[in-house]
Parts: sequence; C-alpha cells; structure tokens
Amino acid sequence: MTVHQFTPPPADFHQRVHDSLENPRIRANFRSAMDGLMSKRSSAFADWELEALRDLGEQVRKRALARLPDLLETLEANCQAQDIQVHWAKDGDEACHIIQGLCEQHNARRVIKGKSMVSEEMELNHYLEARGIEALESDLGEYIVQLAEETPSHIIMPAIHKNTEEISDLLHERTGTNQSRDVDYLTASAREQLREKFMQADVGISGVNFAVAETGTLCLVENEGNGRLTTTVPPVHIAVTGIEKVLPTLDDVAPLLALLTRSATGQHITTYFNMISGPRAQGELDGPEHVHLVLVDGGRSEIYQDNELLSTLQCIRCGACMNHCPVYTRVGGHAYGTTYPGPIGKILMPHLMGLEKTQDLPSASSLCGACGEVCPVRIPIPDLLVRLRREAVDGDQLNTSTVAGHGVKRRRLEASIWHLWAWLHRRPLLYRWSVRLAGQLRGLHPKRIGAWTRYRTAPRVARQSLHQRIQAEQRGDQR
Ligand code: SF4
Repeated sequence: MTVHQFTPPPADFHQRVHDSLENPRIRANFRSAMDGLMSKRSSAFADWELEALRDLGEQVRKRALARLPDLLETLEANCQAQDIQVHWAKDGDEACHIIQGLCEQHNARRVIKGKSMVSEEMELNHYLEARGIEALESDLGEYIVQLAEETPSHIIMPAIHKNTEEISDLLHERTGTNQSRDVDYLTASAREQLREKFMQADVGISGVNFAVAETGTLCLVENEGNGRLTTTVPPVHIAVTGIEKVLPTLDDVAPLLALLTRSATGQHITTYFNMISGPRAQGELDGPEHVHLVLVDGGRSEIYQDNELLSTLQCIRCGACMNHCPVYTRVGGHAYGTTYPGPIGKILMPHLMGLEKTQDLPSASSLCGACGEVCPVRIPIPDLLVRLRREAVDGDQLNTSTVAGHGVKRRRLEASIWHLWAWLHRRPLLYRWSVRLAGQLRGLHPKRIGAWTRYRTAPRVARQSLHQRIQAEQRGDQR
C-alpha cells in the first residue's frame, strides 16, 4: 500500500514542470485519459455540423458578453422575483466573507459542496474550515483530491492524475474502505460515505454553468447526482459563480449545452441537467427553504474592458483545450500551479493573479493551435498567448531589476538569436548559403542543446533545404 503523504508542490514553475516530466506515472495517467477523451469528443461530434455549431456557440457567448451589465441587472431582478437572494462580490475574499456570513445567518456548521471552479479560485474550503465550518466536496473527483489534500488537476475531472490503485489506497487510508481495484466498489463506498453527509449538511454550495437572465434560472450540468442532492437536500442552497456566466434566454442554453457536454466528456448529454428557479414552493416535497446566488467579479471586469481579452470570458469551462494540449497532456494540471491549468489557465490566470506572478504560463505553449481549433466557442487562445508573451517580455524590459537575473539573461539571448534570424532572412543570398552550410555540417549537430533537449530529441538539419530539393526536381523534369 502507498501511504499517502501530502507534500506541497515546489513554488517554482520550472521545478514543477521538471518534476512532472520525470514522473512516469503522471505522464501515463494523463496520456491515457486525454487520448480517451479526445476520441470520445470526436465520436460525439461525428454526426454534427461541428463548425456551424461552434459558430453558433461563439455568437451566443459574444452576444451575451456584449450586454453583460444589462443582463446581470435583469438576472438579479428575476432571481429576486423568485425569492433567490443575490449577492455581489468584487473578489474571492469578499465572496468567501459573504458565504461565511450566510452560513452564520443560518447557524450552519456543516456544508456539502458540488463542483465549482469559482470556489476553487476563492479557496473557499480553507476559508470556511479556518472559521470552524466543515466543507466537504461531494463530486467524486473533488472528494478524492480533498482527501489527498491536493488541488484539482483538471477542471472537469479533478482527480484524473490518479489511477485506480492510488485512489483505492487513498480511500482505504482515509476512510477505511477495503482496498480494491473494482471501480464500481470504490464508487459505491464513496457514495455511501457521502450520502450520510448530505443528510447532515446545513448548507449546500454549488457552482452554476449558465445563469439565464430572462427567467432567473440557474443551470447546473453534472453526472453524479451530487449536484442535485447538494441543491435540494440541505435547507439552504448557495450558488456561486463568476459574473460572465449569464445568458440572455433559455434558448441560448441549448447550443452551449450541446457543445459543453460533447467537448468535455464526449457525452451527448450529461446524466443530470438541473434548472434551479427558487426555493421550495408551498406544496412541493423537496428543495431548500432558502436560495442565494453569489456573483463574483474576481478580475473579470478588468478583462471585460479589453476588447481582445474579452473573448477569454466566452469560456464555458469544457476542458477540451486541456485535453488536446501537447503540453498539458505531458505535464498534467498541477505543474501549472494555478486553479485553471492548461491553455484556458494560461490566458485567464495572468488576469486573475497578475502577469508578474504568472509570466511563465504564456510561454508554456508550443503554439501548435490545437486549443484554438477545438474550443467550442472559438476563443482565439494562441493569439491571446502571443499577446501575453509580448506583455511578459515588455514588462521584463521595463522592470529588469525585479526579475531574476538568469531569466533576463535568457530572454536577452533569445531576443539576440531572433534578431540574427530576422537579419539573415532579409538577405536571400546569405540565407541560402547558411542553409547549404548547415546541411553540409549536419553530421556535427549537437545531441544536446541545453535544457531544450532534456525531454526532446534534437532535430537534425536536412541534407537539402526545400528550396534545393525543388530546384533539383525541376532540373530532373527538364532533362
Ligand atoms: S477555452 Fe474553450 S476549450 Fe478551453 S475550457 Fe474554455 S471553452 Fe473549453
């Protein structure tokens, strides 16, 4: 049995990446899981006009964002009309404070939580636990990472970095479940433990996938039924979400739901789709007595001011960009050290945390474009990465004294190499001569080029350039 010991991840981004790359278990777990998800997504869209659906998804999100301030006011009015109390939080701290206040108002000591990435952003569990309120995750993946004292490594599948054996050991150690490689048994054990917690909970906290302004409806997509229990069994339900999740009408939900479930897990529809429109009405048999909605800004208003970055807010948190990213699939989610890992994290986190704390993220990309090609709402992720890279470098040039010396030197060396490259490419004769010379010296190519070849094979220069080959073929044709 592996005895679980919580080890905090290293603070340095490069060290986390090296640790992940040198961990064959992480690479194997992610590779097999992501390969499976990519193939499921592609089968799920096989009979659909995918590009037309992506166009529609993009339009719906763009239209909603264009009217965001109005829609938020409409949402607030329509929620209040249905007895959903609306609270506004400028950042995560304020949102945590509001939720703590609501728990105290309802004398709550035990909270059960459905999956919510915004609550991860806010570090809500730690906040509540530090104030004597137990907060237990009920999504199976979230429950596993909570038991392991870790953070989610994927926005849809939080415990994807663990295999069955590791989960079995963890459940055995933390909850006394028998060790087993039988996934159904492990799931049933966790369900049994959680079922009791649902019954004891004073408050249920959930996320929101779409908040519909015209009807004041909170939509929640899930597969395990824990979302439905979280929002109906405890006497108080608190929904927490970012301000960008609002949509004008119920009609707008359909195309986004079709895109979300297929892009995320390759499902045509999830097992549960919850539509919450207020507390339990008179005569109804279930549902909470009180419903609250906490709308969190957390840096989103700033993103909203920037015409280019605004598209980041179109995100429907499907995770497809992560599943298809050659960097994410090799290093896994924890290497990023941020709430949102992978391509979406690389464009979102610099705005939520500040570029100075996340300046390595935009560079952790091969710019292959796969993320942009699969994004169901057409967020131009590669373009935004290029812009953030430029800002990170410009920032360094302006503040060299605040950046670690070797980082500045590395960037200067890189800039000099690109200047030389640009100079050579503007001189065709010199360029051709240099390419020919490189072809003749290819036998001398170094096997290692510093850190670049630590996890890759050094490419060999071709014997002939493309130009030389075309010329040779043309000469052959003429003969
Ligand atoms: S950026 Fe696009 S692909 Fe990535 S999680 Fe958001 S919606 Fe999905």
